[in-house]
Amino acid sequence: MATRSTTLRKPTLTRVLHDVNAPAPVQAAQIAFAVMAASKTATWAEAISTPRLADSVRLTAHQQEVIESFRFVLPNLRRRGPVVTVEACPECGRWGWSCSPVQKRCSWTPGCSGAPVKAATTAWKPPSPADVLADGEVVL
Ligand SMILES: [Zn+2]
Repeated sequence: MATRSTTLRKPTLTRVLHDVNAPAPVQAAQIAFAVMAASKTATWAEAISTPRLADSVRLTAHQQEVIESFRFVLPNLRRRGPVVTVEACPECGRWGWSCSPVQKRCSWTPGCSGAPVKAATTAWKPPSPADVLADGEVVL
């Protein structure tokens, strides 16, 4: 006679990947958006309120440091509705909020020739799966 299993299904563990060569505020936003995507939420506040989030999302020690260093960025990010992300200049290091396409040349610092990069709200993928170490750390 078949019996019904009463055990709970183990949640899928999501390893978060981010671009370790991006400016730090962009890294923080990439990590935060990945956590929001894994928890199917639109904001950081919603994501961290998700029950058992730690059972379904794994951050590396480096990712936890990045998130901690830029925790003031996290409350303003929005993954859906009016999207709010960050873009940063890899040359001068300045950064700002972004709700539109990334600027082609840095407009924050006069004379800066940097091309700002923006954190996408979708999951970042490394150029090659071989760049991801067993612990989830990405080496580029
Ligand atoms: Zn710049």
